[in-house]
Amino acid sequence: HIAVIGSINVDFVCRVARFPHAGETMHVHAATTGLGGKGANQAVAVARLGTAVELAGQMGDDALAQVARDAMADAGVGLRFVRTETGGQTGRAFITVNDAGENQILVHGGANMTLRPDDVPALARVFDGARVVMVQMEIPPDIVVRLCEQARAQDMTIIVDPAPVPPDGLPDALFTLATVMTPNETETQALTGILPTDAPTARAAAAHLHGRGVACAVIKMGARGVFHSRRDGGDGFIPPFAVTAVDTVAAGDCFGAGLARMLASGAPLDQAVRYAAACGALATTRPGAAEAAPTAEEVAALLDT
Ligand code: ADP
Repeated sequence: HIAVIGSINVDFVCRVARFPHAGETMHVHAATTGLGGKGANQAVAVARLGTAVELAGQMGDDALAQVARDAMADAGVGLRFVRTETGGQTGRAFITVNDAGENQILVHGGANMTLRPDDVPALARVFDGARVVMVQMEIPPDIVVRLCEQARAQDMTIIVDPAPVPPDGLPDALFTLATVMTPNETETQALTGILPTDAPTARAAAAHLHGRGVACAVIKMGARGVFHSRRDGGDGFIPPFAVTAVDTVAAGDCFGAGLARMLASGAPLDQAVRYAAACGALATTRPGAAEAAPTAEEVAALLDT
């Protein structure tokens, strides 16, 4: 299986004509409740591709935990390593989307953020039987570092999605522990000081990441394509797949799922990135987060065109 370590949230999404002013009460066009959190989204996206996946993380013992658990189980995500914090609150995000497609998001990390070093041995059992692990930054950074150290000791391929970049920066250790780091444009700028907009700027940012120890840099530039680069030599640019994007939420999570699936099957980096870019592109053609993730058949069809 592929191992995913990360956040599990329930997302409350409201659609409004415009954002409310301070003190204002407004009715919304529509309200939905769904699974969210980058860990959960990545795990569901892997499962949608038909690859076995186990998620490690933590929820509370509240009613929302069951909502998230059911959604992940229905998608086929293994939940043996998802812990329950007694008395804890499951992570939640309050998302408002206006008619211009802009969003405002409030996140309460809850049980995602109360993972402690004592929990690491139990979480690390997700590595048994896996060769690839995916991590993001919606759980405490020191827990991510400890788990990546353990994964490295077990010779695993470690995919670090540095999202979001913590306010005090990404821990130094993660640059050297990452086999592949996959920042988007804003994360690349936060990590390197360079806003990537094309292959030359992405190459400069990748060189910065290599200098800090990253073995493979994969710079996601949304509708501008993806740049990939290996510290030991060789780089390339994958132009964007032509799709009609309606909702880019979780495109990066679906990208990561495709990358993990291909690296787990032994594919070289350039092929894995091309597959991942197809996954990300398809995810933008449908509204929603994890539920917008493509199947392997859909990815194969896009790659054939
Ligand atoms: P994130 O979701 O992490 O911010 P991106 O917005 O870069 O990351 O999206 C992830 C990947 O999804 C991109 O690198 C690209 O492969 C694909 N993608 C995103 N938006 C589009 C688009 N409008 N057209 C084609 N591909 C896209």
